[in-house]
Amino acid sequence: MGRNRIWTAERQTELRRLWNDGKSAAELADVFQTSTGAIYVQARQFGLTRRRSARRRATEESRTRGGDCTGQRRFTGVVSSGPRVVLPEYHPAVVKGTPFFPGQVKPAALLERMLISGENSRKLGRIVEKGRWKSFEIFSLTLEERDTCPRSCTEWRSCYGNNLHHSTRITDDGTLERRLWGELASLNARFPAGFVVRLHVLGDFYSVGYVDFWRQALIDFPALKYFRFYGADAAGSDRFRGRQAVPRSTAAVRHPFFGRRARPYVR
Ligand code: SF4
Repeated sequence: MGRNRIWTAERQTELRRLWNDGKSAAELADVFQTSTGAIYVQARQFGLTRRRSARRRATEESRTRGGDCTGQRRFTGVVSSGPRVVLPEYHPAVVKGTPFFPGQVKPAALLERMLISGENSRKLGRIVEKGRWKSFEIFSLTLEERDTCPRSCTEWRSCYGNNLHHSTRITDDGTLERRLWGELASLNARFPAGFVVRLHVLGDFYSVGYVDFWRQALIDFPALKYFRFYGADAAGSDRFRGRQAVPRSTAAVRHPFFGRRARPYVR
């Protein structure tokens, strides 16, 4: 039988009915002896729209939320705010080694808490979903970018922090480590099976004393795990060379671009 290209009133009514019944374009093409393309053309002309399938809805919503289909993140509508900002060499933040948004720097003593639930982060989420740390709660710590980082960082001018105008950067006013210790002790008691700290959303280990702080915390708080990404000086900068390695079960260190594992030094 040849293809029927005439859309009589009866055929149009039947097309509407079957379309609204949820028949696929291929099924309709079969019924009306035409092509799927012709079905779509007619559907558009008649103003027929498809209800999105649950799966497609989930995918589209996930894209809108920046990849989250778990419902773990609080700010689900937040998406990346465009290309990474690269500061010129003469910019004061680059020259002095300070954050791009100085108004977002807060002393530790002024903050109710420093370890923030991962649900406040577009990238993290509230809990770990797979692997050896599955179901562990995630927390993050954000320090001052550049101010706490080695100058050898390859992203010195293009730091991720140049795009994070909402994030609070914690500065050490002499109370940071004491207060952080208290928060870790509290989380260790609250989540005895395990919890994970993302070090550091911005910033880095700023002193040997601070490295030792984390090394001691991993010993004193058995539930504590951490993960971080390593940068250009992964082989060990002068600041941290020779620090004692921590057990692989407590730390995960990966290269941000290649996903390659590094030795889990607390650095
Ligand atoms: S180490 Fe990270 S936070 Fe620090 S300047 Fe480099 S990219 Fe920014």
